[in-house]
Amino acid sequence: AIEVRNLHKYFGENEVLKGIDFTVDQGQVVCVIGPSGSGKSTLLRCVNRLEEPTSGQIVVEGEDITDPEVDLNKVRSRIGMVFQQFNLFPHLCVLDNLTLAQRRVLKRDKAEAEKIARANLEKVGLAEKADAYPAHLSGGQQQRVAIARALSMDPDMMLFDEPTSALDPELVGDVLDVMRRLADEGMTMMVVTHEMGFAREVGDKLVFMDGGVIVEEGDPREVLSNPQHERTQQFLSKVL
Ligand code: ATP
Ligand code: MG
Repeated sequence: AIEVRNLHKYFGENEVLKGIDFTVDQGQVVCVIGPSGSGKSTLLRCVNRLEEPTSGQIVVEGEDITDPEVDLNKVRSRIGMVFQQFNLFPHLCVLDNLTLAQRRVLKRDKAEAEKIARANLEKVGLAEKADAYPAHLSGGQQQRVAIARALSMDPDMMLFDEPTSALDPELVGDVLDVMRRLADEGMTMMVVTHEMGFAREVGDKLVFMDGGVIVEEGDPREVLSNPQHERTQQFLSKVL
């Protein structure tokens, strides 16, 4: 579970997160929507400490990860992150992309890391691509490799930042299918997305952010069909 309490983040004078409170329970899928610049990525990046929060608390599985004493490598290995721009290592084949952090951070030996990597490639439907290089894969395949790489660290939860926004439309479905299966298996997930269909069908909760605050949150079907706030209505009228 993730608990965020009164989270503030400044970049210089610019207050980008203005007191965010929410929880993601074990096994829940929380989708985050909102206009460009509303702070969605910053929020996600704070949750795995790619950004340092200015104040507030983020408690992951009972541990306050804003504590200065916290082991950031450990935090990040428990929280998998998938970005819009896949961020694969271009000079490494798929298998090596999946084993690198397992070996460096988790100290797994080569055989074990490769076994886990192959199992996760199988899971995302890319078992036959183990020896391929990222440049030879489609965007959708690269993103599924990125998901398999994150899963190979045995994370307790997964964060997705617009995982399908850089993909050609016909490749989006395969990636969403993988995410849907993960959700069905009970993975705790936070997903920043423009895919309202995914949010409606897979999300347990939908959070609408604007201007660094959570304007509205609730059951995705409720929020999408019956938004309570004018700002939510305006945003949805543009994207739906
Ligand atoms: P988008 O939908 O375009 O991805 P977003 O909701 O993810 O937007 P953020 O990327 O979190 O928004 O950015 C929120 C605000 O924080 C923006 O005004 C942005 O310019 C600012 N910001 C983000 N990262 C930094 C940074 N590293 N340094 C300074 N300002 C930043
Ligand atoms: Mg963003």
